[in-house]
Amino acid sequence: MKKPLPEDRQHRCVQKRRYRTQGDALDAALLAGVECERTAYRCPLCGQWHLTKSKTGGSRS
Ligand SMILES: [Zn+2]
Repeated sequence: MKKPLPEDRQHRCVQKRRYRTQGDALDAALLAGVECERTAYRCPLCGQWHLTKSKTGGSRS
């Protein structure tokens, strides 16, 4: 049985780009043209913001 280790989460954190504010993160998504597909969330590990794929309920099929 594998438990998710805290180190895994931290690893994911350090691999991701960090933004100081939610606005910075969303700006970056906007510039990349992926603002519809990305959500900004505040990371509990580094206290900064990352972008993650947003789960939009699949309205386009
Ligand atoms: Zn982080």
